[in-house]
Amino acid sequence: MKKHNFYAGPSILPQYTIENTAKAIHNFADMGLSLMEISHRSKQFVAVVDEATALFKELLNIPEGYSVLFLGGGASTQFAMVPFNILQKKAAYLNTGAWAKKAIKEAKRFGEVEVVASSEDTTFNYIPKDYTIPADADYFHITTNNTIYGTEIREDFGIDIPLVADMSSDIFSRPIDISKYAIIYGGAQKNLAPAGVTFVIVRNDILGKVERDIPSMLDYRIHIDKESMFNTPPCVPIYAALQTLKWLKAQGGVEAMEKINIEKAGLLYDEIDRNPLFKGTVLNKEDRSLMNICFVMAEGYEQYEKEFFEFASERGMIGIKGHRSVGGFRASTYNALPKESVEALVACMQEFEKKVS
Ligand SMILES: *Cc1c(COP(=O)(O)O)cnc(C)c1O
Repeated sequence: MKKHNFYAGPSILPQYTIENTAKAIHNFADMGLSLMEISHRSKQFVAVVDEATALFKELLNIPEGYSVLFLGGGASTQFAMVPFNILQKKAAYLNTGAWAKKAIKEAKRFGEVEVVASSEDTTFNYIPKDYTIPADADYFHITTNNTIYGTEIREDFGIDIPLVADMSSDIFSRPIDISKYAIIYGGAQKNLAPAGVTFVIVRNDILGKVERDIPSMLDYRIHIDKESMFNTPPCVPIYAALQTLKWLKAQGGVEAMEKINIEKAGLLYDEIDRNPLFKGTVLNKEDRSLMNICFVMAEGYEQYEKEFFEFASERGMIGIKGHRSVGGFRASTYNALPKESVEALVACMQEFEKKVS
């Protein structure tokens, strides 16, 4: 039976990425050696990092004056690395979910943190819009896609202070106006590569302004200077990321991705809104994520939750259980998820409706 992979992360990758990485694990760049056993300083691997950096810049149309880094430590290390490098006195944060909260917790170690708005009182089921960003803050931090709750900020807003974004789960899902951001970071394991590599896009002129001493491994300037080779980088995930970037380019880049993502998410949201058995958890349509689609059993059908989960699992739907803090279901529709998988899930929901009514 065909499996449809709706996992939230680590999550589906293009077949192209998996096949090429598997080949390189046996024989990398015709060296007769595995990608796992060659020096990161070999000219063949340096070429991989250079090409991945160049393609990253090309696909996201990154302007001059920005650096792209491939680091270890996950997005969670960035929660501390961002304030370590750029929080001098005060930072502003938007609290839109569990990841935002973790970022806030780490930033508090480095200075004053003003949480400008929060949707925690309603389990983060919307994006707050009514807030004022303090003009004296060193930066404003947002989480563009809230992987657990299925909300997303898809607008690159221009603000008067540096904007920092955790884009772990929606990078490369749409064109981004990079010039609006000072730092964008994320773990690669949602939309780009297997777990192990973290990307950072940083505007060079934001750095070097804090007074504190920064450990080398946590200093963006050192990684920029050493072109992501200060220490041994996660070679296999970087190689896989390069394959995904090549695949993205062949698909038509982020413009084409956005179009397909709108179509895929639209199919599923339409079914959730139409099918009387189900109910979306994000009520404002403009806040609905194109990457993680959360839904629960509608009133009067709550008792069918386990049965639908089993029904869908038997039909090849994998990874649709909602996060424990939201319950119900979550279907992640990342770039690599084919439209047929969304159609299969929609068909499954329709079949289940017929079965119980
Ligand atoms: C998954 C996720 C993280 C955590 O990433 P790690 O690489 O596991 O540290 C952070 N932010 C968002 C939005 C995520 O989806």
